[in-house]
Amino acid sequence: MRQAHEERAGGIQERARSFAETGLVNRAAEFDRAGYLPRDVITTMADAGFLGAVVPAKWGGQGLDPLEYGELTESIGKACASTRALLTVHTSLVAETLVKRASDRLKEKYLTDLALGKKIACFALSEAGAGSDAASVTTSYIKKGDLFVLDGRKKWISFAGVADLFMVFATDNGATSAFLVERDMPGVEIHPMSGMLGNRATHMAEVSFSDVEVPAENLVSGIGLGVGFVANTALFHGRYSIAWAGVAIAQAALETMCAYAIEREQFGVKIGTHQLVQKMIADAVTQVGAARELCRRAGRLRMEHSADAVMETNIAKYFSSTIAQQVTSDAVQVLGGNGCWDRYPAERLFREAKVLEVIEGTSQLQQLLIADYGYKKFAVSKSGWGT
Ligand SMILES: Cc1cc2nc3c(=O)[nH]c(=O)nc-3n(C[C@H](O)[C@H](O)[C@H](O)COP(=O)(O)OP(=O)(O)OC[C@H]3O[C@@H](n4cnc5c(N)ncnc54)[C@H](O)[C@@H]3O)c2cc1C
Repeated sequence: MRQAHEERAGGIQERARSFAETGLVNRAAEFDRAGYLPRDVITTMADAGFLGAVVPAKWGGQGLDPLEYGELTESIGKACASTRALLTVHTSLVAETLVKRASDRLKEKYLTDLALGKKIACFALSEAGAGSDAASVTTSYIKKGDLFVLDGRKKWISFAGVADLFMVFATDNGATSAFLVERDMPGVEIHPMSGMLGNRATHMAEVSFSDVEVPAENLVSGIGLGVGFVANTALFHGRYSIAWAGVAIAQAALETMCAYAIEREQFGVKIGTHQLVQKMIADAVTQVGAARELCRRAGRLRMEHSADAVMETNIAKYFSSTIAQQVTSDAVQVLGGNGCWDRYPAERLFREAKVLEVIEGTSQLQQLLIADYGYKKFAVSKSGWGT
């Protein structure tokens, strides 16, 4: 059984690497410029099983474990950040959350279609006035018989432009709940957004809900469990995905700067022989390796269902998005003028890395959580001090 799993997982990793190298990396700049991820990419991701990577086989998925999923995320994310974002949103934030938090009835209704990529899902939490403070959402619901009626507007919703299903967070006088809303339910409207720093090909949109009638069975988990239970589960998965996205982008930047440094000549020598350039390469090698190990540690703790898995995922996300920012900045530096030009990958990687410090909980929010964890774990009473 284990052998069959490993063979299947190995096949998926091979498909991911091959797709990334032959079907993605050379198109990523085009997707970024066009602000559009073509349907054939989404279809390939679905057909290869990537969109159901972490969903159990029982529900149509591939049942990858967290370490295997991390490797898959790195392969895709190294080639194209917007394509990787589909994994983060559809697979981690929504499908994986439904595995844990949805009733069997709801899983039957949606999860298998999501795992097979027959339906695309997006995650609608943020609003113009509610970002880091997720509990402050104003999109509202009221219960009317067998229905919930939703009103409000969501902002920054990745893949809303192409999604069939929205996981929407709404409140009724402070009781925030999560609902699955179908795109073609009357009253749902999509308002495309453009001009983003990164993730430009993610079909981002605002989504408005006007008297949208949602069947009561589409409530996820229960009334009032939207933030503490459903959103927190989703962000646990989403942050794990973003942690690997940081490794992916930083690895791509590292390879870019190394390749350039051994070719480019100034002052009669390859620039890679200048010690100040070598420092940037050395830092990047070290930081990427450290970030990958933090991701793996978080992955192992997830597999063990450790109580530390949530915080170690936050730490991996915080570190990896921070170093992705530093490494991509150094990649721009090593490439000089070409690093600032969109005919080379460094400037796009730089933009994509910055986004990681904002999404799925900003770096500042991670710092607050990590400091709190640090006090609980490491503040040992030193009663003898100062005496
Ligand atoms: C590319 C992209 C894709 C996105 N996709 C989605 C999506 O699919 N679904 C979705 O729901 N949302 C999505 N978002 C929204 C994203 O989750 C929010 O932008 C993020 O949560 C931050 O919220 P905000 O923009 O309102 O910033 P704010 O919360 O206003 O924060 C602004 C600044 O204040 C700081 N700050 C806030 N509170 C504190 C505090 N207590 N202590 C210290 N500093 C603080 C923040 O760290 C940040 O630096 C996306 C955003 C981007 C950029």
